[in-house]
Amino acid sequence: MKLDHLAIAVADLDAALTFYRDALGLELDGIEAVEREGVRIAFLPLGDGTSRIELVQPTRDDTGIAKWMAKHGPGMHHVCLAVPNLESALARLVAHGCELIHPQPVRREDGTPYAFIHPRSAFGVLVELYEKPE
Ligand code: ZN
Repeated sequence: MKLDHLAIAVADLDAALTFYRDALGLELDGIEAVEREGVRIAFLPLGDGTSRIELVQPTRDDTGIAKWMAKHGPGMHHVCLAVPNLESALARLVAHGCELIHPQPVRREDGTPYAFIHPRSAFGVLVELYEKPE
């Protein structure tokens, strides 16, 4: 299991880059606008690039992340771990009584299967799982 990304919710992506890229010194790999999800995302790889920080800025008010920010303000939103087999990871979680936001894997636009675990089961942290073959 590997850390895939840490997602940080920000109100203004360009302002956030003055810290994460300019002051902290992380590399910016690119910025993507995902219309379907109502977000702009900046990717900042760490080390060899298998893990990264993602800055996520909501671009509409009706999205999950916009609602989350309205309640919590900007800050760490979720941690994403890459697992070799998502179905078996979810089955294991269910067997341990964990509450899943996505009981079945869903797919990103690029085809990557993912699922979110409810923060109630993860001691206050929203955890995302990606399926990525090792
Ligand atoms: Zn994520």
